[in-house]
Amino acid sequence: MSQFSDHSFANEKALIRVDFNVPLNDKFEITDDTRIRGAVPTIQKILKDGGSVILMSHLGRPKDGPTDKYSLKHLVPHLQELLETQVEFANDCIGDEAVQKAAALKPGQVLLLENLRFYKEEEKGDKAFAQKLAKLGDVYVNDAFGTAHRAHASTAVIAQFFTKDKRMFGLLMENEINSAEKVLHQSQKPFTAIIGGAKVSDKILIIENLLERATDIIIGGGMAYTFLKALGGNIGKSLCEDDRLDTARELCKKAEEKGVRLHLPSDSIIADKFAADANDSSAPSNAIPDGWMGLDIGENACEQFTNVIHRSKTILWNGPMGVFEMVKFQRGTRGIARAVAEATAKGAFSLVGGGDSVAAVNQFGYADQVSYVSTGGGALLEYFEGKELPGIAAIKA
Ligand code: AMP
Repeated sequence: MSQFSDHSFANEKALIRVDFNVPLNDKFEITDDTRIRGAVPTIQKILKDGGSVILMSHLGRPKDGPTDKYSLKHLVPHLQELLETQVEFANDCIGDEAVQKAAALKPGQVLLLENLRFYKEEEKGDKAFAQKLAKLGDVYVNDAFGTAHRAHASTAVIAQFFTKDKRMFGLLMENEINSAEKVLHQSQKPFTAIIGGAKVSDKILIIENLLERATDIIIGGGMAYTFLKALGGNIGKSLCEDDRLDTARELCKKAEEKGVRLHLPSDSIIADKFAADANDSSAPSNAIPDGWMGLDIGENACEQFTNVIHRSKTILWNGPMGVFEMVKFQRGTRGIARAVAEATAKGAFSLVGGGDSVAAVNQFGYADQVSYVSTGGGALLEYFEGKELPGIAAIKA
């Protein structure tokens, strides 16, 4: 593979796989452009070098071929604003129009291709389809960390059609990988992983892998109650995966054997129903009254977790501490976001990743006070599970 920053793109057509899978409202306005902005430095470096750019992405999950709803043409006006240049659009990602428009590109020009997932071949990782895409550019740049865990035509299969010096990661992808590596393989200790969210079953592999590396693992959110029940607590009608009680016990045992401190919330904010207008109270997390459920970590737990976070040098945060979408149950997640920001200000390296924790740091205004906010949800999770991501492996091969 080639190093993006060292490569001169002068007179080259760079085919960039970006992740422009952004949320749109019913007027096709972009409601969060983080992913598009994330790719801008990569695009600008290529244009500045005197190269041209062909952008390809998926948007949403179209089922039966082209539909207006999932057309990438809706992104053109905003992309033009961000890049401060005109953006051409091809109504099909392969075929005559795409070939002609790509061939006609002059240095400094940008072409956006229509949604890759209008072809089933994309997700199937079809080789012939990947080859057609590959022919559009001289050099392949993968800047789509959000889809790096998929072995799709445009994210992985396509790389084989470019020689090693003509395939590389973009700047966003490089940042993502460097940040993840800093946490996973070069962490300064103490290293605290904060894992939250709804389900234990989604997070077993990441916890197992982190048990090899972290000094402290904080478990919050709905998944904490399966652990609390497994340890003999009364959790009322809190979220619980009864088929994972043994797993939870095993994870606790492994943590003890490895000397990793596992922190569960000492108390909880409890509710009599899962609703924004529920009656709320607080209780020890292992003595929640029948008919009540834990929907956030309590005040003591927040303080307990904050102390652990404050003495950490490396922090990974994936998943909220409670139902932060509801005002009554967002104090815990907000408190943890603040603690991560404070630890960062004192010199810790903090990485926040996974859809909901990213939404939380954005919502509470801490996104620019942590070291890195990842654009990858599933991809980041798989990276921390210790898996090799096809999008990364294909470039390095
Ligand atoms: P995940 O996608 O697994 O990271 O889970 C995120 C979701 O978990 C968010 O929508 C939260 O509202 C939800 N969640 C967090 N804490 C709880 C809880 N104590 N009970 C039920 N749901 C929760």
